[in-house]
Amino acid sequence: MNDAITRILVVDTSALTREILSRILREELDHTEVVTAASGAAALAALERGRFDLITTALLLSDMDGLALSRRVRESDHHHYTPVIVVSGDADNRLLREGFEAGVTDYFDKSNGYKAFGAFIKSFLQRNSGLSGHILFVEDSRTSAAVTCKMLDKHGLTYHHTNSAEEAYRLLARMRSEPEDAEHFDMVITDFYTVGEMTGGDLLHAIRAKFHFSQQELPVLLLTSADDQQTQVEIFHAGGNDFVAKPIVEEILLARVRALLLIKHQYDALKAQTEKIRWVAVTDSLTGVHSRRYLVDHGEEFLREPANQPTWAVIIDLDHFKRINDTQGHITGDHVLAEMGNLLNRAFPDDMVVRFGGEEFCVLVRQNTQEQVLTRLEALRRDVQARRPADVDVTISVGVAGTADFPDLHISDFLARADQALYAAKEGGRNRICLCTPEGLRLSPWHEAELPASPAAIDPNH
Ligand code: GH3
Ligand code: MG
Ligand code: MG
Ligand code: MG
Repeated sequence: MNDAITRILVVDTSALTREILSRILREELDHTEVVTAASGAAALAALERGRFDLITTALLLSDMDGLALSRRVRESDHHHYTPVIVVSGDADNRLLREGFEAGVTDYFDKSNGYKAFGAFIKSFLQRNSGLSGHILFVEDSRTSAAVTCKMLDKHGLTYHHTNSAEEAYRLLARMRSEPEDAEHFDMVITDFYTVGEMTGGDLLHAIRAKFHFSQQELPVLLLTSADDQQTQVEIFHAGGNDFVAKPIVEEILLARVRALLLIKHQYDALKAQTEKIRWVAVTDSLTGVHSRRYLVDHGEEFLREPANQPTWAVIIDLDHFKRINDTQGHITGDHVLAEMGNLLNRAFPDDMVVRFGGEEFCVLVRQNTQEQVLTRLEALRRDVQARRPADVDVTISVGVAGTADFPDLHISDFLARADQALYAAKEGGRNRICLCTPEGLRLSPWHEAELPASPAAIDPNH
């Protein structure tokens, strides 16, 4: 979840097992440091010397058993909360019962094999790495604030403490309006009653009803007094995620914070994934141009946009592409398509380039005169032929139609005109550009002639 190094202590009497387990952990996990100990005493000494994020131990050690080690870990100052995983061959019921009492966090059954050990630890760390995050902490009682800050510090959480709900309100308003530059908080912990005009309850109301942070996007944990059940009910009505009663018990506070940060991190991960999926859906992975889906969603708007006028629909089809696949293989065919996508993106950087299907591309070209668009396409046609994408001799046929000629057509009818022109280009011998006009279909005036010198025609990168 973050890039900090995860430190794992592996405790086992056998040198060979220590070696195997450490190697697996190093292979499976990034940013991980593994330290080994041959006995309970050596393990406790290592824990004295440094901080660990996870401890795995065999059940049988030379000087104590794994459960005794776990008890000692739970009693220690610095590793009170560090997960302890017992790696054992027989996780029977007795062990499960006694292990719980000894503070063992989980078991790995050795009979599953060492390969599974890596996957087990990896998934364990993913499930348990919720305790990172930056917290906005609002508390006006100085003693209570000091105690809570100490608890947060101890667990590696960062926070911004303020004693005023008004100040918290300002910080959150900034986070809402300037998400890139403002201080970013993963959750809020606030006292319900704070002195001043605004209380923690008012702040909660503002977070949900004014800034519209959802319970997943910005969890809010409230601090109340233990006997105040009326307030506790109110907190849930107002969109609070949870509450902790004062005086604060460290284990309870941390369990709630962990659960809420986990929700927050899952929300962030889901959001990032959704963004990625959206990108995949609108981009063709082979050619790097927009997908047909994107054309369906945005094409009509692009054609109508006044600033884009006059616009052109262009359909580009590779000639005899089936032959390329048949003679040189599909992989080569794919390379040709990928290079075509690249070429089109570069030749039409301000326009909408789409993979229409198979070996057909569509470009919606904006703000070009007929002469400009035909010159650019003619230059493209010659460039493809000369460049030999993926070392293959290939040519393109192109059909064009313009909004100036067909002002009121829906995009699909408009594309049908361009397709008609493409068909004529194929019929006329391929490797040519054909324009659809209200007067009929006609070949590009520069099919065999010199190209007029037009700055728009030549891609400066070529
Ligand atoms: P024409 O000049 O008339 O356009 O002939 P063509 O062979 O290009 O046209 P046709 O429509 O008969 O064949 C298109 C071929 O494009 C058939 C299909 O296998 C191939 N194709 C479509 N998508 C892909 C792809 O993603 N990769 C590869 N390698 N080939 C593709
Ligand atoms: Mg075809
Ligand atoms: Mg073709
Ligand atoms: Mg085709």
